[in-house]
Amino acid sequence: MCKMSFFKDRKEPSEAAILRILDKRMQLAEKDKQYYHNLVKGFEGEVMFDSLTEKLQCESLFLNDLLLDQNNSTFQLDSVMITQDPLYLFEVKNYEGDFYYEDGRFYTLSKKEIKNPLHQLARSESLLRQLLQSIGYRIPIKSYVIFINPQFTLYQAPINQPIIFPNQLPNFMGNLNERPSKLTRRHKSIAEKLVSLHQNESLYKKLPPYNYESLRKGLNCSVCYSFMVFVEDKKLVCDLCGHQESVDTAILRAVEELKLLFPGEKITTNGVHEWCQVVDSKKTIRRVLKQNYSSIGKREFHFIKLE
Ligand SMILES: [Zn+2]
Repeated sequence: MCKMSFFKDRKEPSEAAILRILDKRMQLAEKDKQYYHNLVKGFEGEVMFDSLTEKLQCESLFLNDLLLDQNNSTFQLDSVMITQDPLYLFEVKNYEGDFYYEDGRFYTLSKKEIKNPLHQLARSESLLRQLLQSIGYRIPIKSYVIFINPQFTLYQAPINQPIIFPNQLPNFMGNLNERPSKLTRRHKSIAEKLVSLHQNESLYKKLPPYNYESLRKGLNCSVCYSFMVFVEDKKLVCDLCGHQESVDTAILRAVEELKLLFPGEKITTNGVHEWCQVVDSKKTIRRVLKQNYSSIGKREFHFIKLE
């Protein structure tokens, strides 16, 4: 049966998850806020695109979010679709609002030049082609910039460029779906090879410096993020929006935060107790840790999550 499958899934960038926590617990500089906003926006756009590609019925393999290296040039691929022929490369942009194109450049309406996504696409395509050739695969590549956001307009858009606008997406996906495609062992091995070459995010590079002492501590509401919470009858109650959550879940959220913020640090009952602030009973914290993490000492817990 003809079917597409996700060969490599997309995960929220850990940088975005960390910045979301930091944003609540320290004063972020404007540039860090902007960076966070762009990360989240970009990720949302990619997820929107995934929701279209997952409906495709043609035989294909999807690889999302690959970070590759060719001759010391790192490049990131939002979405790669392997079909019988060609291999599609999609650069997904979640730009919103009005932009214009002039003399090969992209601008916002307030005349601020933005990075030309076509250049980025051309660079990625060229590096991907070199990489595939260097490992012995010759497969034609077709690449497109996908503007996914329905609220995006590009004035004076060029016509002979590989750009797909939001209103063209239904047709574009329809045409993709109708292309005959039969995958062989070779296609699968291309996919496997690319996944094996995927580099793990060089994490924490663009994060602002932070340390435990300077961060605001305390559990916060999982809905409105307010720190005005208290514990009552095994529930964490938000004073601001009224949301209730079991204390156990809230403690686990706190542990996940600590693990993201301070990878490699040991999770201890005392540490979690201090981070949570509002949970008086250390016994409760110890119980939750014991139920969810495997213990490596009397008070210390390893990071391995129990299934
Ligand atoms: Zn709340």
